[in-house]
Amino acid sequence: MRELVVLGTSSHLPTRARNHNGYLLLWDGDGYLFDPGEGTQRQMTFAGISASKITHICLTHVHGDHSYGLPGVISRLAADGVEHTVQLHYPESGEAFVRALVGVSAPLSTLQLVPHGSAGQIASHLSVAPLRHRVETFGYRLTEPDDRTFLPAKLSAAGISGSDVGKLRREGSLNGVDLDDVSVPRSGQSFAFIMDTAPCPGAEDLADGTDMLVSECTFADEESDLARDYLHMTAGQAGDLAHRARARHLVLTHFSSRYADTARLVAQAQARAPHSRVTAANDLDRFAMPRRRTTAV
Ligand SMILES: [Zn+2]
Repeated sequence: MRELVVLGTSSHLPTRARNHNGYLLLWDGDGYLFDPGEGTQRQMTFAGISASKITHICLTHVHGDHSYGLPGVISRLAADGVEHTVQLHYPESGEAFVRALVGVSAPLSTLQLVPHGSAGQIASHLSVAPLRHRVETFGYRLTEPDDRTFLPAKLSAAGISGSDVGKLRREGSLNGVDLDDVSVPRSGQSFAFIMDTAPCPGAEDLADGTDMLVSECTFADEESDLARDYLHMTAGQAGDLAHRARARHLVLTHFSSRYADTARLVAQAQARAPHSRVTAANDLDRFAMPRRRTTAV
């Protein structure tokens, strides 16, 4: 199953309707928890998600609305007796802050601290790129490589089975049979998480060609001065990002508490990204990954 579970959607100040940030991406057997703000542990209970689903915790930066939930989540993992490794990813400049939060958590022997300081791959299929905010910030991207789907009837007609299938995949042809004869391309899926940034090249790199793009949308276009001063994005800028990236589903979040209704922000983003599906996230929403593209890109 590949699904985004939204745990919280407010920026700086939570509201009656919006908890601080928190997003759990369920991706096959892994669970990527992004930016756990205050209350994330309880929001997971409301969402009916066990903490044991978490295999990676990814902090974009060490502002409190993206990280104060960390001690609660780690303590819950310990209380639940989670035995698998949980990797904690964060910008290395936030080391002292992160160690302080981990230090007040219940001990979790399987927790691995995995800081990063530059763009690149940090775990299997997981990469980061720098964003542009008031403290060092990195966005995340999960990329499944393109692959082939083998057609069983054609494989057996060609007399290929067992380990020869892997050999054909690696070598492209085997005993006069081409890979194209017995398989079709399968597009890998991709997901990006862009939080707390002004528009910047790193955001563009992460968002490029994604199936699902979660983007901060702190302000409406009318508040572009505030967005510029605090290094955030407006709805229109989030739409621009999705449009240039050809992102299929843009999920807007991290709203200023001034917006009780986000319809205007969705309209502003959608106007700039006419080919993308645009949605405003609400707490406890679930978004399935879009169906695979029919051919590899
Ligand atoms: Zn924030």
